[in-house]
Amino acid sequence: MTIPDSYVPCARFTLMDLSFIINELGEEREHYFNAIAPPIVQSSNFAFDSVAGMRELLLDEYKGFLYSRGNNPTIDILRKKLAALDGAEDALVFGSGAAAIFAAVLSQVKQGDHVICVREPYSWARQLFENILSRFGVQTTFVDGTQTANFEKALQPNTSLIYLESPNSLTFELQDIAAVTALAKSRNIVTIIDNSYCTPLYQQPHLMGVDLCIQSATKFISGHSDTVAGVLTGSREKIKKIFASELLNIGSGIAPFNAWLLLRGLRTLEIRLQRSAESTRTVVDRLRQHPLIEKIYFPLAPDFPQYELARRQMKGAAGLFTIQLKADTREQVERFCNSLQHFLMAVSWGGHESLAFPACASIPAEDFDPGISKHRMVRLYVGLEDAGYLISDLEQALEKMKG
Ligand SMILES: *Cc1c(COP(=O)(O)O)cnc(C)c1O
Repeated sequence: MTIPDSYVPCARFTLMDLSFIINELGEEREHYFNAIAPPIVQSSNFAFDSVAGMRELLLDEYKGFLYSRGNNPTIDILRKKLAALDGAEDALVFGSGAAAIFAAVLSQVKQGDHVICVREPYSWARQLFENILSRFGVQTTFVDGTQTANFEKALQPNTSLIYLESPNSLTFELQDIAAVTALAKSRNIVTIIDNSYCTPLYQQPHLMGVDLCIQSATKFISGHSDTVAGVLTGSREKIKKIFASELLNIGSGIAPFNAWLLLRGLRTLEIRLQRSAESTRTVVDRLRQHPLIEKIYFPLAPDFPQYELARRQMKGAAGLFTIQLKADTREQVERFCNSLQHFLMAVSWGGHESLAFPACASIPAEDFDPGISKHRMVRLYVGLEDAGYLISDLEQALEKMKG
C-alpha cells in the first residue's frame, strides 16, 4: 500500500506558466539597473510633481504608490506573482496569515450576520469567530466539514459567510470544495478558504468556486522560517474593497524587506514542495508498519478516510502528517519527542527544517489522558533533509519511547 506518485503542479499551470510567474511576472528590471534580484524599496512615502498627481492617488490609493501602508513597488511584484499563482485577479499581502484571515473575514460580515465555519479551524481563526466577532453580533456555527450536508443544515437566513480550511493542519479533514461553493453561490453566500497546507501549486480553490483564498506565507511561500506573512487573493472588486478598507485601516500590510524574502522564497517553491513531498511519502510509507504507531494521518495515504476526495481536489501533499503513538502515558509521548535529534521541536512548518509538534504541548500536563487519541498525536513536518536521515531519527526516538 504505497502512496501514489502524483506530485505534479496543478493542471492549470503548464510548467512554462509556472516558470514565467516565478521568474518574470511583475519584474521590470529595466527600471532598476537590470538587477536580477528586485530592489527592496524601503521607503514609507512617494513624491509627486503636481497637486493633480497627488490628488489622484489620495482619492484612490489602490492605483499607485502613495504611502507604503498601502502600495509599495517591492510588494507590488509579489502581489502580481501571488495573484497569478492562485489564478486570481489580485492579491494582498499581510504581515501574517492571521492578519489575512482577520481582514478577509471582517470584510464579509456585519452585525447580525451568521457564519458557518469548519470545526477546528486554525486556532486564531477560531479565536476570531468565537471571541471577537461574537462581541459584535456575528454568530458562528462550527460544523463537521467532511459532510457537505452539514453546511446545508447549518444555513440560516442571515448566513453571509462560509469559512473553509481544506485540509486542516493536524488531522487533515477535507471539505468537498466545489460542492460547498455551489451551495454557497445558490444562497449568495461568500466563501473563504485557508489553503496554507496545499499552496496554489497543489490546490486551486478559485477554480473550484471559492471567492477569497488565504494562505499563511510564513509556511511554504517563505520556506526558510525567516519571516511571518499572509496572502489573500480574489476578484479585483473584492480585493480593491479590502485594500481600501481593512488593509489600510488595520495597517496590517507587509514590510518591503519581508516581501522581498517571500519573493526569494517563491523562486524555489516548486522544487522545495517536490522534495518535501517525495521525502514525506518515503517517511510515511516507512512508519506505516511501525508497532508503536497506532495511526498515521496523511491525506494522500490510500487508507485516509477522504483519500478519494483528496485525489480529486488536491494535486499533491508535502511535509505535514500526524502520527498517533501507542503510548500509555504522557511521559512516553514526551520521551519520544525529547529524544528526536534532527526534528526540531517547534510550532509552524513549511521551512527547510523538519519539525515535531506534540499536541499534548497545548494542554496542561495534568490534563493528559491516554484515552484521548489527540493527546497522543505528534504532528511532523518533513523539510528538505534526506529522508533516510529523518527516518533513522524517528526510529531511534520510537525505540526510546517505552523507556
Ligand atoms: C500558520 C497558519 C496560519 C496563520 O498564519 P501566520 O502567518 O502564523 O499568522 C493560518 N492557517 C494555517 C493552516 C496555518 O498553519
